[in-house]
Amino acid sequence: MACRGANSDEGAAKAHFVFVPLMHHGHLIPAVDAALQLAAHGALASIVVTPSYTARLRPAVESSGLPVRLVELPLDLASTDDVDRIPPDQEAAYLLAASRLRAPLEHHLRAHAPPVTCVVSDICHPWTTGLAASLGVPRLSFLGMSACCLLCLQTEHHAAAIRNAYAAIDPYWHLIPEEPVEVKMPTAAPGFLRLPACKKLAYEKLAYAVERACVEVDGVILNTFLELEPETVMSCMEVRNVNVWAVGPVSLFHYHQNAAALAARGNAPTIDADEYLRWLDDKESSSVIYVSFGSSAVHAAPKQVMEIGLGLEASEHPFIWVVSSENAGQDQEIRRFLEELEARVSGRGLLIRGWSPQQLILSHASVGGIVTHCGWNSMMEAVAAGLPMVTWPHLALQFVNEALAVRSMETGVSIGVEWSKEEGVEVAVVERGVVEEAVRSIMGGGDEAAERRRRATALATKVREVSQEGGSSFINLRRLVKRYQAVTSHDA
Ligand code: UDP
Repeated sequence: MACRGANSDEGAAKAHFVFVPLMHHGHLIPAVDAALQLAAHGALASIVVTPSYTARLRPAVESSGLPVRLVELPLDLASTDDVDRIPPDQEAAYLLAASRLRAPLEHHLRAHAPPVTCVVSDICHPWTTGLAASLGVPRLSFLGMSACCLLCLQTEHHAAAIRNAYAAIDPYWHLIPEEPVEVKMPTAAPGFLRLPACKKLAYEKLAYAVERACVEVDGVILNTFLELEPETVMSCMEVRNVNVWAVGPVSLFHYHQNAAALAARGNAPTIDADEYLRWLDDKESSSVIYVSFGSSAVHAAPKQVMEIGLGLEASEHPFIWVVSSENAGQDQEIRRFLEELEARVSGRGLLIRGWSPQQLILSHASVGGIVTHCGWNSMMEAVAAGLPMVTWPHLALQFVNEALAVRSMETGVSIGVEWSKEEGVEVAVVERGVVEEAVRSIMGGGDEAAERRRRATALATKVREVSQEGGSSFINLRRLVKRYQAVTSHDA
């Protein structure tokens, strides 16, 4: 077990938050950001990591200079602890192994750490309820999802809750599966762990434990901000009578960091900084569209990969396209297609095969839009960067996020994914013409595009306000730290 930055005095009278994230980029990255944000507001934070992730997180943590410790604990699992390499049929075993971290973690916290005042855990770690109880401290959930998604998960009457929460904005209750005619999401979207595919993977027991743990939680930290989803944040609190701390966008922490630390946020980029920065510096302001489908829903069918490439080529706009290693390396035909495309669009299109320094790219002045799978982190990063979006959801709750972008923020244009409710039926390929048109619609001229851009810029301005002294996220972070600081002082 390795503990970095541990110091017996450092936690005196400070709130000490112990983060237990899921080792999955979309969960881990914002959890680390949230820990850094809390530390920047006067707390001490520990983040539990398994060995494959320590090196990936160290640059951001160490360069921050804040009292954030990485607590490395090995997983009791025969296969790898790297979730990118775990075969789908091993995922349930992986989560079970994670639950066996409880005893060594408790031992570590009692023996080597400053007094813990709060456990902050991922929704997928229901075993942390017992850990917090045993330590005699409260447990918060950190969720890298919108308040709207949380509301979907929280309530047994999904449709009614959503209808109430959004009646003022738009009645897009038809997204909810209890309305069978207009379902646009996979059948069990709100209880996402109950998706048919998950059942096959023996997640069912875990799903119930997760739902129980959601109820037993003392509060929820959300990577959103009050002004973005005001009604819904309130509804989330009312539905379960828990505190909801909207502290986002947590990624903003990195705007104050040096470029190298920001580039390495979460993982090492598979492209040289010189290459993409020089490329971006050469482009006109707001002219480049960035295309990425996140860290997990990225393995597209070969035909889809080609249609995306051809659509981007036809759009005539400069683009950065992040192609997953699986896609880039799959069959020879795709590899050849990508190489030929690169040659044809040389200077105008940049392909990143593998991991992109996304936040750094999105905050570059040359980037003017994003094609996104509507992962909440990517969406919040795009909002913070003031970018309009083409929305292309892949998984259950991403459809809720799409609706937020298109109907509530009005900065998104839907690519129009056709979901089938039938299990095992493939999503239709989005043709190149549709990709081209969607890109043109957010990057092109015209009043509608200009209005969309204006709204995106206004949201980014709002983001700056909420994160500064006196802003809602700033205040919530400060209150959160104070609340658990008071617990420590009282106990001391
Ligand atoms: N990310 C990145 N580079 C990549 C892919 C993803 O930096 O090439 C980051 C991205 O900035 C975001 C997170 O990984 O912070 C992905 O989270 P999101 O919720 O958008 O999607 P998920 O990967 O969970 O589907």
